[in-house]
Parts: sequence; structure tokens; C-alpha cells
Amino acid sequence: MDDRPFYLCPMSKANPYAILFEPVKIGPVVAPNRFYQVPHACGMGHLRPQAHSAMRAMKAEGGWGVVCTEECEIHPTSDLSPYSEQRLWDEKDIPALSLMVEKVKAHGSLAGIELVHNGHMAPNLFSRLPALAPLDIQLDVGYPKMARAMDKQDIKDLRAWHRRAVKNAKAAGFDIIYVYAGHNMTITQHFLSPRYNQRTDEYGGSLENRARLTRELLEEAQETAAGDCAIALRLAVDEQMGEDGIQAHEDGRAIVEHLAKLPDLWDVNVSDWPNDTISARFEPNEGAQVEAMSFVKETTSKPTVGVGRFTSPDLMVKLVKNGVLDLIGAARPSIADPLLPNKIREGRIEEIRECIGCNICASCDSLGVPIRCTQNPTMGEEWRRGWHPEIIEPKKSDKSVLIVGAGPSGLECALQLGRRGYQVTLTEESKDLGGRALGESKLKGLSSWRRVADNRTHELQQMANVSIYTNSRLSAQDVVEFDCDKVFLATGAKWRRDGTGRSHNFPLTDLGGMRDSTPDTIMLGRIPSDPVVIYDDDHGYMGGVLADHIAACCNDVTFVTTASVVSPFTINSLEQDFIQRSLVEAGVKIYVSTQVLSLKPGCLELQNVYGGEPFEVACTEFIPVTARTPDLELKRELDKLAPDLPVEVIGDALMPGLIADATFSGHLAARSFEANEEEIETGKFMREMPSLPPTANF
Ligand code: ADP
Ligand code: SF4
Repeated sequence: MDDRPFYLCPMSKANPYAILFEPVKIGPVVAPNRFYQVPHACGMGHLRPQAHSAMRAMKAEGGWGVVCTEECEIHPTSDLSPYSEQRLWDEKDIPALSLMVEKVKAHGSLAGIELVHNGHMAPNLFSRLPALAPLDIQLDVGYPKMARAMDKQDIKDLRAWHRRAVKNAKAAGFDIIYVYAGHNMTITQHFLSPRYNQRTDEYGGSLENRARLTRELLEEAQETAAGDCAIALRLAVDEQMGEDGIQAHEDGRAIVEHLAKLPDLWDVNVSDWPNDTISARFEPNEGAQVEAMSFVKETTSKPTVGVGRFTSPDLMVKLVKNGVLDLIGAARPSIADPLLPNKIREGRIEEIRECIGCNICASCDSLGVPIRCTQNPTMGEEWRRGWHPEIIEPKKSDKSVLIVGAGPSGLECALQLGRRGYQVTLTEESKDLGGRALGESKLKGLSSWRRVADNRTHELQQMANVSIYTNSRLSAQDVVEFDCDKVFLATGAKWRRDGTGRSHNFPLTDLGGMRDSTPDTIMLGRIPSDPVVIYDDDHGYMGGVLADHIAACCNDVTFVTTASVVSPFTINSLEQDFIQRSLVEAGVKIYVSTQVLSLKPGCLELQNVYGGEPFEVACTEFIPVTARTPDLELKRELDKLAPDLPVEVIGDALMPGLIADATFSGHLAARSFEANEEEIETGKFMREMPSLPPTANF
């Protein structure tokens, strides 16, 4: 057996994906293959270096030839607090970053770092320093403060900070160091873009002038790296704003032509972040950015990497063969399946855990907490819980397990217990496995969400120790008769139909003869009657997606929400703007900051949440999206019938939440089953503690 690391193993020419495992020279370094984890946010950053290192190391272990950090602030004038990104303000930040480099390189991968100055996107709330920009402009972060137009000295200072960060990144051991001009979050992009750069000096006006700062940073980075590291340029080649911004085949192309020879690698995408990391709901296809980036390889001889939620190896091969990309970039596919390259290499294509494009991963960065993923419950848990996507402790006994309910939590729990080797029986009332993942995937734009069920079902069906029964609604008596050693109840939750929610602690009074539905009935295929009112007092994604879905089949749709925008949670998943636009385009009447006072025959009585005169809107069918109730009927019956039976409730039946919460709950329960008292996993995980100097003076 060839015991060399996989990235050095020759691959059969007959393997249709062999081209993806060819090494690629990037300036002075060589990527062992074409799988490139582009920089992506993870909510860990400088505050959680051990968690961060372990998470990136898992990607390297999974075969990603290049693994990068998230954006890395180069100076306290680019302070993104309260978000935790990477930091290389000075040499004191080197050890935390070296840790990641060491762990990534241990698997033979290259480590990349994305240096950044965020300009007026950085509020400097921690450092309290003035923010910098090409022009005097408001901070773009909801804080009433202006960024200052940079003078010549500011520009000189910025270049010096960047040079110092390159020097320190090199000292930390990075192979690839970025100059970053993308996502509308970087000062270099702001200088490139005429809408921000209205300067009249040599840094403004012509394209050559607007690109001067980027050019200087690239040249100085190359000089500082001195042939030891590759210098990459991450560039937004299209701002997706038409004539108001940079356009791919016009000034985007001109910028690439102008700087073509300077970087060792082009990492190209579209901006801003919501456009680049667009959710599957608004861009269902893989490779959506290919058209915008297709010109890049025509204009430069340097290798090019780009993203597009790529999970299909056939498409990856096509892009390389057609000369569109040299390296297959991925953020989300590497989060959903850190082992994706290895699976392709080993011909385990069916086992790829495909990203569903829900953007819950991105929402963690927005919320300032460590990353998580709907498809991959181990994401973010590599260090603190020691979880691996595919390795799990074998069973400790021959105990048998019954799982009732095959939604995301039941499926995940069954899968992990099956992997551990337990005898598992999974029962489901419906004819198909998947629970809410199947139901929600029937709503407009969410078809990819059924992958949560498909990937797991496929694997479960291969397991000899797992028996699956569909069309099997179990009663408490059935459960007892199963005579198993442990029962997991994954019976889910139902949307309430009585309007109880954030604003109404008690049910709305009688429905006045009005027809009513819930998100559950719509997911079962019900088409409501006009005029229909969706009342969102939940503020998650469901209200907005339901309105969009219903607007496709009804003419008179009104969306009422107590929130001040449509679906506020989705600001975190980078979708809110798209959602509200979509409802406006679909002709949905929107009332924000509005509550339902009462239901009357043929209408609803509404009022602005801040007061004012009540008013009425026509309504034949009322759909409250307000709260969910755990389905604990079976639990209550079991408590009466067999109080000594070991029963554990998981998933939405325990805590209605996101699908990501349900898969996590199922995973945690499976890992915790038969764990020793001291290793019991519930609630137990490592924390990164601030270290105090020995001389700390209290
Ligand atoms: P979760 O997100 O926690 O997995 P879901 O609501 O998606 O929850 O799934 C719960 C599943 O449990 C549904 O598919 C439902 O049909 C099933 N279920 C509920 N009660 C029973 C029962 N008594 N017997 C079998 N299946 C059940
Ligand atoms: Fe993909 Fe959703 Fe996982 Fe992000 S959270 S990687 S979008 S499946």
C-alpha cells in the first residue's frame, strides 16, 4: 500500500476527476491539487484561535489543497468589533495565526491569509480611532459616525501597515498572502469604484489612478514576500449594480488587464457579500458567477480561482478543461463537507454532503458566534467538542435504539448511531423520510433543502444495522411493544394556528368564521383563497418565504409583520434585501411594524405597533406565522404508560428552531448516548479563556 500522503499519490489517468488532483503552481508555491478553500468568515477569528485552527485543519485533512483564513484586519483603524475576524495588527497576533498555519500544513496543504483594511465598513468601536475612506462618508455599519477622507499621509500610513502585516504573515508561515479588494468591504475596492472614489488627486479619476493604491499594495507585498510567499489579489470583478458600479466585462476587465502581471493568483468573484454568497433561494444554480468571471483567464497568465457553490465534480472538471478556472474555490461546500476533495478522489461521490445554500453559516458571523452548518453538525465543533464529520466513537454495548420521527433530527441521530454500530430502528409516520426538510423544500426557492433528507437517507439505506419503517405512526403502546433499550423522540413541532406569538401571549379571539391555514398546511399543498393575509410575528424566514410562495398562486396577498422589516432574521443570512424586493416585485402588500388586533368576518383589524388609529384589510384566509408548539403527545402518553422507559426528546420536539438546530440536536444525542458520566457531551465543551499575564494587577 502506498503510504505517502494522498496529495502525492499518483492518480489513475482513467479517473475522470484526475485533473482536479493535479498540482498548481502559484508564484513561488505549489498547491497540491485544485481544491481551494477561499477565505470565509466563521465567527471565530482572533477571539477563538484554537477553534479556528482546528476547523481549518479539518478542511486540510479533507483534502483541500489550499486553506485560507477569513479576513484579517491589518490595523486598529480597521477594527470590526464586535465581529470576531482575524487580526494582524502587530507581531503579538502572530502566534494565534501560526497555530492555524502549522495545523493546515501538517496535512500537506498551503495556508493563505486574507489581509484587509475595511475602510468605512470598520466602525472601530473597540479601538475608537477615526475610520478611513477615499472620501468623507458615513460608516456603513449602523453607527452614526463618519469616515474621514484620507490625505496623502493616511495613504502612506496604510501602505506601511499593509507592508508590516505582510511581513508578519510571512513570519507566521503563510504560503499565500492576499491583497483584498472585494465584497464592498475593503478600502482597495472603495478606491477602485468611482462611486466611492471622487478624489481629484493621483488616487482618483482615471482607472489607472483609482487602481494606484491596489497596485502599490501588490508591489509592496511582492517586495516584502521576496519570493517566499505567493501574493493573491481577491477582486470583485462585478459589483452587480449595472452602470452604477464596476461591471465585469467593462471596467472589471480593464482593472484585471491593468494589474494582470502583479499578483501570483487571481481570486475573483462578484460583490457585495450577499451577491457573492447568494443563498440558493435566490440563485439555485451552481456556478452562478462563472459568466462574470469568464474573461479573467483571457487577460492574465496567472492562475485563477473562483467560487460558485460548486459540489459537482463534473462541473469542476469542465471549468478547468474549458479554461475558466485553474482552482476550484469553495467556502460553503467546504463547510457542508470538509471531506469533499477526498470523497471525489476516492470515488465516494454519492457521499458528498451537499451544501443546501441556506446561509446559516454566514449568519453566525453576523451574530458574532462560531460557525455552524445545517448539513454538517460537526462544523465549528472540531476543537471544543472534538467532533469529526465522519469519525465517531463505536458503540459501547449491544443496546437497541428506537427513533420515532425521521425529520432532520431523527435522521441525523439514526445516522450517527448507525455509524457507531448500534441496532437502530427508525420509524416515520409519513410515507417519505425528511420531516420539515421535505415540507420546507416544497416552498418557493427552497428545493435544495431536501438534500438534508436525501444525503442522510442514502447513507442510512446502506446500513445493515438500521431498519427504517415509513407509514408508521407509533402510539405509546407500539413503542413499549418494541421493547428496545432506548427511545429517541424526534417528533418535531407544529406551527400554531391561534396567533399566539411574540406580540400576543394569548390566542387571538375567535377567527370570525374565517378560513385559516398554517405554514404546515401550505407545505402540504393547500392553495389559499384570496384575499389572503400572512401575519409574521415570528420574524424568522418562514413568513417571508410563505408570502413569496403564495404570491405565485394567489392574486391578493398581504404581508403583515410586527417587525420593522420583512423577515429580520434573514439580515444575518444575507437574504433580507432579496426577500423584501421579491415580495414587492410579486405585488404583495406589505405592512411592517403592524399588529393584528382582531379578526372580523372578511377582514382583519390592524394597528401600527407604536399606536395610531386601527384600520382594516380584507381577508378571507388568515395564515399566522407566529410560533411553534413541540409535538409531545407521544412523550406525554409514554410518561403515563411506561414511566421507566429511557426516553429522550430531541430536535424540534425539544426546542423548535432552525433545521441546523435540529441536525445538531440529533448529532449531539447520538454522540452522548452511553457516554460516561465525565464525558457526557450535553453542555460540555471546551472554552477559550483569555490569558492573563503573571503580573496582572487586580
Ligand atoms: P425535527 O426537525 O426535529 O427532525 P420534524 O418536524 O422535521 O422535526 O420531523 C418530525 C417527524 O416526526 C415528522 O416527519 C413526523 O411525521 C414524525 N412523527 C411525529 N410523530 C410521530 C409518531 N408518533 N410516529 C412516527 N413518526 C412521527
Ligand atoms: Fe451550506 Fe447552509 Fe451549511 Fe452554509 S449552513 S454550508 S449554506 S448547508
